[in-house]
Amino acid sequence: MGEWKCQNCGYKIQAETPPEECPSCKQKCEFADVSCYIPDCGATGSDERL
Ligand SMILES: [Zn+2]
Repeated sequence: MGEWKCQNCGYKIQAETPPEECPSCKQKCEFADVSCYIPDCGATGSDERL
């Protein structure tokens, strides 16, 4: 299970893969993988867009 954040509105969703369409802003948004920002992940992953 991953966690994804909408780059448009900041909505976070937990799913295996990011949705086609953001359930919050109802647009086809870019989703960033924020799974590694969950504390028990080890925090080695980074996404400069966050
Ligand atoms: Zn959104």
